[in-house]
Amino acid sequence: MSASPENTAPGVKNDFIRQIIRADLAEGKHRAIRTRFPPEPNGYLHIGHAKAICLDFGIAQEFGGTCNLRLDDTNPAKEDPEYVRAIQDDVQWLGFTWNALRHASDYFEVFHLAAEQLIRQGDAYVDDLSADEVREYRGTLTEAGRPSPFRDRSIDENLDLFRRMRAGEFADGARTLRAKIDMASGNINLRDPALYRIKHVEHQNTGDAWPIYPMYDFAHSLSDAIEGITHSLCTLEFEDHRPLYDWCVDRVDLVNHPELLQPLVDKGFPREAAKPRQIEFSRLNFNYLVMSKRKLMALVTEGLVDGWDDPRMPTLQGIRRRGYTPGALKLMVDRVGISKQNSLLDISILEGALRDDLDAAAQRRMGVIDPLKLVITNLPDAHEESLTFSNHPKDESAGERQVPFSNVLWIEREDFEEIPPKGFKRLTVGGDVRLRGAGIVRCDDVIKDAVGRVVEVRCTLDPESRPGMEGANRKVKGTIHWVSAKDAVEAEIRLYDRLFTVPDPDVDEGGKTYRDYLNPGSRRVVTGYVERSAAQAAPETGLQFERIGYFVADRYDHTPAHPVFNRSVTLRDTWSGKP
Ligand code: ATP
Ligand code: MG
Repeated sequence: MSASPENTAPGVKNDFIRQIIRADLAEGKHRAIRTRFPPEPNGYLHIGHAKAICLDFGIAQEFGGTCNLRLDDTNPAKEDPEYVRAIQDDVQWLGFTWNALRHASDYFEVFHLAAEQLIRQGDAYVDDLSADEVREYRGTLTEAGRPSPFRDRSIDENLDLFRRMRAGEFADGARTLRAKIDMASGNINLRDPALYRIKHVEHQNTGDAWPIYPMYDFAHSLSDAIEGITHSLCTLEFEDHRPLYDWCVDRVDLVNHPELLQPLVDKGFPREAAKPRQIEFSRLNFNYLVMSKRKLMALVTEGLVDGWDDPRMPTLQGIRRRGYTPGALKLMVDRVGISKQNSLLDISILEGALRDDLDAAAQRRMGVIDPLKLVITNLPDAHEESLTFSNHPKDESAGERQVPFSNVLWIEREDFEEIPPKGFKRLTVGGDVRLRGAGIVRCDDVIKDAVGRVVEVRCTLDPESRPGMEGANRKVKGTIHWVSAKDAVEAEIRLYDRLFTVPDPDVDEGGKTYRDYLNPGSRRVVTGYVERSAAQAAPETGLQFERIGYFVADRYDHTPAHPVFNRSVTLRDTWSGKP
């Protein structure tokens, strides 16, 4: 695979897949690049799928080609329209537009005609062996398989039996249609793999029209060929399937058998058949996560999380609700790169991409998540004023806003200590602190409740330290954030953290499973106060609450009257360096 890459300009991606594509285009192999993203609608898409989506759609975009969204719906028992809707939502959210929305089930008639052609060519046969027997005959990695006693049926008998399979005459599992390839092949996928199985089950698109369903490798390769896909990108576990993929494409040869496409032409589909090329790349995996659909499904059905879109889930619906942005995911995919080496990446790569994206994109606000009342005693009770704050320290175009300031504020409880530990730089009795953008206060005394807990700190504001005054730049050790109690809006703050406490929750060891490593502190809900302008943000707006972290207005529950903010990520990595 030593494609000769053209010299690419800085910033232009040039991984091994793009090198292959550049070489194919340079050789004039294709007029246009066509790719597809082919999820099976049997669950929600996760962060790993984002890599495949960015690659499939991204490459089509970069090379002026097209990308289809194809739902690989050949396994009706496990599939659901709920997933189909979420998949479309996810792809659109990431900012991609599909050329055509297709379903493998759109092609069922073509697969069926193709199977009959294989039978007529002597390339497929109907087998009566049971699933267990097929397994027994298949052999092992070190031992060749044995031919089924039904392998040499006549073409006519095979055609007749396949017609009767299709007519629904036989019970589930009674027979299969198998490719006739090589029972001694070193690649077990080539030992007469099944092409069709009998399954009397309703399909979400085709109803009860079919009692037989095509197997993955057959349907997938032919779907690519039907759509004229030039480069079929998939993850490494399909590398061993590539010889079978090529076998199906070559033996059916849609390019030279246009008659097989007639059912689609009758339905108004364009004729696009071509010979696709499969290229594999490594799966995306992060520590501190589980990503297989089966385990994600278990987390949901066992009630260990609050559904597929729980902000702690690695589903795209979940991380979107957590405050991840399409920009952060694309940044992460670019940083991770494309290779053929599977590895477990550190979750800090994902979180770091989010921090960097939000640092640039999120406006700044003030919010207090563990409120303590601060009263300024040298301002009149009715005091209210409006201070001008910039919305983003590094981006003037984000503009400014007015922040109400008054004699009663909420500050963060941890920013006050009655008995300060050594090195404490914030507020303490007799000490000074700067109230961000408002001036310097000195704490004179505190009010406690019946159990001795501080409920109010009482301060005087230095009039000379106010914005614009001579003493505004007077040095003090600390600056803290605040909101005006007269104007701030009470908010539900959902503090999310990693769902698992260990880097590799996926390893089932010593009788433990990922269920045993759930982080009990992964979701903490508190009541805080935020600036009114934060409360008024639209759902899904990402904000930095200064000194606290990045938050997002919840996609579903947030309203200006009842603001709900989810913590997307802390300002710094609070996990690194932990034992
Ligand atoms: P899972 O194994 O997590 O259940 P899957 O591979 O069964 O996922 P599909 O719906 O078949 O999910 O995947 C659609 C496409 O996304 C495939 O091309 C697949 O290779 C790719 N994909 C799935 N998981 C990852 C991943 N972790 N990293 C990169 N691509 C992935
Ligand atoms: Mg799959």
